[in-house]
Amino acid sequence: MFYEVPVKTNRSTEFIDITRKISELVFESGVKNGICYIYVPHTTAGLTINENADPDVVHDILVRLNKVIPFDDNYRHAEGNSAAHIKASMMGFNQYIIINNGKLMLGTWQGIYFTEFDGPRHRKVYVKIIEG
Ligand code: ZN
Repeated sequence: MFYEVPVKTNRSTEFIDITRKISELVFESGVKNGICYIYVPHTTAGLTINENADPDVVHDILVRLNKVIPFDDNYRHAEGNSAAHIKASMMGFNQYIIINNGKLMLGTWQGIYFTEFDGPRHRKVYVKIIEG
């Protein structure tokens, strides 16, 4: 099963929790055991898995990322969004999650985040659900 999920981002830099949407797709697919592969087809946005219980965790990750990768740093890329490209590469563009008994095998405190670094934009996520 293949799905294309639209993601609307609201800020220049933000993490959007897409765990619920991905879980719904797994349910909709009817796949009980397999792999959920998630891919972001963008160069200034990515994917990560981290805590979704305490929102301060995402806040702290963003604060640190913005310090480590400053917006301006004599970059050469003419579009002016090199910081976003670098941060997206640090996050990566895909995640695999095991599906067991129809559920994503995430840890208790884990959520799946779409990580926007050059928003706001209309983005998308590809989801492939593979039985096996
Ligand atoms: Zn660029």
